[in-house]
Parts: sequence; structure tokens; C-alpha cells
Amino acid sequence: TGSLTVGELAGKLHKEPSEIIKKLFMLGVMATINQDLDKDSIELIAGEYGVEVEEVIVFDVTEFEGYATEDQEDQLQIRPPVVTIMGHVDHGKTTLLDSIRNTKVTAGEAGGITQHIGAYQVVVNNKKITFLDTPGHAAFTTMRARGAQVTDITILVVAADDGVMPQTVEAISHAKAAEVPIIVAVNKMDKESANPDRVMQELTEYGLVSEAWGGDTIFVPLSALSGDGIEELLEMILLVSEVEEWKANPNRAATGTVIEAQLDKGRGSVATLLVQNGTLRVGDSIVVGNTFGRVRAMVNDLGRRVKEVGPSTPVEITGLSDVPQAGDQFMVFTDEKKARQVGEARASKQLDEQRKEGAKLSLDDLFEQI
Ligand code: GDP
Ligand code: MG
Repeated sequence: TGSLTVGELAGKLHKEPSEIIKKLFMLGVMATINQDLDKDSIELIAGEYGVEVEEVIVFDVTEFEGYATEDQEDQLQIRPPVVTIMGHVDHGKTTLLDSIRNTKVTAGEAGGITQHIGAYQVVVNNKKITFLDTPGHAAFTTMRARGAQVTDITILVVAADDGVMPQTVEAISHAKAAEVPIIVAVNKMDKESANPDRVMQELTEYGLVSEAWGGDTIFVPLSALSGDGIEELLEMILLVSEVEEWKANPNRAATGTVIEAQLDKGRGSVATLLVQNGTLRVGDSIVVGNTFGRVRAMVNDLGRRVKEVGPSTPVEITGLSDVPQAGDQFMVFTDEKKARQVGEARASKQLDEQRKEGAKLSLDDLFEQI
């Protein structure tokens, strides 16, 4: 259930906080502007102004029983890292994503129809790496603004012929705020005007000092266009993963985040989910953001139908009653009735309104699309 501070309530009633504080005082409540008010006080004050309070229940899957169930250490298994690519416009993010995907995905997967689902996995030295290829900055900031953290590693692409630019700096601050390790990809090394030393020099100002210069940031010179250096980049991702040892428990009901979603004419609501913990199966009852359903079918990044997927795997699902939003979190319920109840409550009108308010706060418009 939602709560409000004195200041927030004043805002909603279009009154001065001091006036609210005075009213509270008359009611025997000593309050400051940042104080959380209980339901009764909110109703009392609102009542004084003839305003009726409708209780809006804000669901957050992370608050559900079972979501945060601590996994025992012995239940945890190493999971693939989830990587996001960020950097200034035209520095080569899309080219790099395509290039990694083309060299790695199609090779061993003859017959697989690669399709765009907003994320893909590659296999390097028998180990998987998951790449999110949704709009980098937007995905990152929207998701973080909505409380979801999906990225384990950020690849910061900096064009060697252009150096550090405004969105490079932005990307660094996002990654730092999220405490996500950064690997610097010094791109466009094939160009005659490439000056990797300058990139290294400029990045020292932001605390990214290369190992060659005594720091601990990994720099990989490469050309997204020719493919030179991409293998090294992938190996460095695996190296960081080995150190970090990201783990999950495949033997529990799945939880994770929506990467993207849309309405498809034939298939209805189609959502790409990133499973972050547990295993997601066809037939599972699932609550996703403010919608719910049963997983009717799952398709992986190669366009293949799959029956179950484990941690760090992106998968496209159908079967939801409505279209969720990027950054929405999901949770599988072992009890279908509960999923339905929760789902229906969440889908209620009040929530939609709540959500419109939330949408205004999202930061995705601030950044360019990849
Ligand atoms: P984004 O805006 O960061 O996604 O950048 P793009 O991937 O769209 O690349 C911008 C431009 O730079 C395109 O014309 C690419 O072909 C070019 N480009 C990307 N990587 C390289 C590279 O390694 N070498 C050269 N010479 N050009 C590149
Ligand atoms: Mg792009």
C-alpha cells in the first residue's frame, strides 16, 4: 500500500505543506514535511478538504512472498554474464553488436533463423554471454529508474578517431551509479586517424585507467567493422565473469525483467524476458508488470521454440493478457490462482493511472536510441 509524506500530500491537495502541518498539529500529530503519513492521517486531512482517498495498491513483484527467497549457496550455479553496450552516437555500438552476433551466432547454428528479440546469446569457449541489444542508454536508464538491474558488464565503445564525447561520459556515470564493471572497447582502430592513446588519456580523467598504465580497466582495441579484436573483447568479458562469478539458482520459479514487448497482430502480446533467476517453462503462470498469463510459447534468440530456459537467458514469450513495459519485473507463481488474482488486481484501472504517472518519470527519452 502506498504512503505519502506531508509534502507529497500537500502537493496532491494543492496546499502549502505548512498548512497541512498545522492541520496535523490540530489533530494532535506533530509532523515535518518529509514525514510519512499513515493511511488514517491521510484520510483525515484529505477529508478536511472534502477529498476522498482511494487506496491505490502498488504491486511490486519484488515484494511478493517467494521473490526474494534467499537461495542457499549450494543451490547457486554460475550463470552467463549479461552485457550492455554503451557509448557516444556513431562510435559503433550497433556495428559491434551486429558483428559479434554475426560472427558468433550464425556459425554453429545452421538452420536457425536469427531474429530480433532485443537480446541474444553467443557461445565463446563453451561459455555463454548474453548481450542486450535494446537501445543501450535508454534500456539501462529506464530499467534502473524502474528498479531493475539487468546488466552485469558494460562495454563502453569509444571511437579511436573521435575520443571521449558527451554520451561517453554519460555512459560512464550510468555504469558507475549501477556499480557495473566497464570494459572499454576502443573502436575504429582500422582508421588511419585512430588515436587510442588519446582515448586512454582522456578516460583517465574519469577514473578509467588502463592496465598498461597501472590502472585496472580493461581496454580492448578493435574494429567492429573488420572484426579485428572482437575475439579478444569476448575473452575479456569471460575473464571478468570468472572473477565476478555471477550466480543464480536454476531450481526455483523464474524471476526477471522485461527487455521489450509489443502487440503482435497474430500472436497478441509478445514480450522478451530476461530470466535472471530460476527456470522459466512453457505453461508457467506468470505475473509480468501489471499483466499476467500463462506462458503459451517461448522462442529463443535463434527463432527456435524452447520449452524451458534458465538464468541469464533472453526469451520471447506469448500468452500474456496485456503488453508489459520494458523494465517491468516478472515472477512465476506456482499457484495459478494466485497469479490470476495478483494479475487481475494489478491490471485494474487505478494501477494504469498510477503507471501513467510513473511513465512520466522515465528517463528513456533523454538518450539516443542505439
Ligand atoms: P552507433 O551510433 O554507436 O550505433 O554507431 P554505428 O554502429 O551506427 O556506426 C556509426 C558509423 O561508424 C557507421 O557508418 C559504421 O559503419 C561506422 N563504424 C562502426 N565501427 C567502425 C569501425 O570499426 N571502423 C570504421 N572504419 N567504421 C566503423
Ligand atoms: Mg546505433
